[in-house]
Amino acid sequence: MGTRGRTEPFDILISEKAIQERIVALGAEIDRDLKDGDLVVVGVLKGSFVFMADLIRAIKRPVSCDFIRVASYDHDHSTGVVRLEFDLTQPIADKSVLLIEDIVDTGRTLRFLLKYLQAKRPARIRVASLLYKEINPEVRGFIDYCGFTVPDKYVVGYGLDSEGLYRSLPHIGCRAEER
Ligand code: 5GP
Repeated sequence: MGTRGRTEPFDILISEKAIQERIVALGAEIDRDLKDGDLVVVGVLKGSFVFMADLIRAIKRPVSCDFIRVASYDHDHSTGVVRLEFDLTQPIADKSVLLIEDIVDTGRTLRFLLKYLQAKRPARIRVASLLYKEINPEVRGFIDYCGFTVPDKYVVGYGLDSEGLYRSLPHIGCRAEER
């Protein structure tokens, strides 16, 4: 059990240190790959905002930031429906887009967003996701920059919530009984 596990119903699955080290490496990779032109970093609200805040500071080239919001989960269970709730505030035509996800589970959200954003004719779209659930290997190919692979558990922290809570944890946790 992690130190915070004694006061919260979660064990640490990925430590704060591991997350921060991985983000430094991802930032360097993104700097190497996306050197030229305008780069718009698009965070998928709400879960990606903590990861995005750290990742953009690990990317040394200039970026602009925008957000998009979709609804796909209802009370921690997939409803199977993805709906756009909040759109970008700027055109992305002919620009490079780095889409930031917190976690790719079934890939339904990501597929929807890629199709939606492609229609806006960006020069290219790359995807960074902090987490990827290993039960869905067919969607791994959509992720260009992947932080960590996680088992098929409901995870929280570092932006990810459970009924609106736990986004502010500095690590990724899962319920002790689920480990
Ligand atoms: P997908 O469409 O890939 O099935 O799910 C994507 C969204 O579902 C994520 O952006 C996230 O908001 C939510 N989600 C999926 N798995 C988890 C999980 O284990 N924990 C939390 N907090 N959210 C999840």
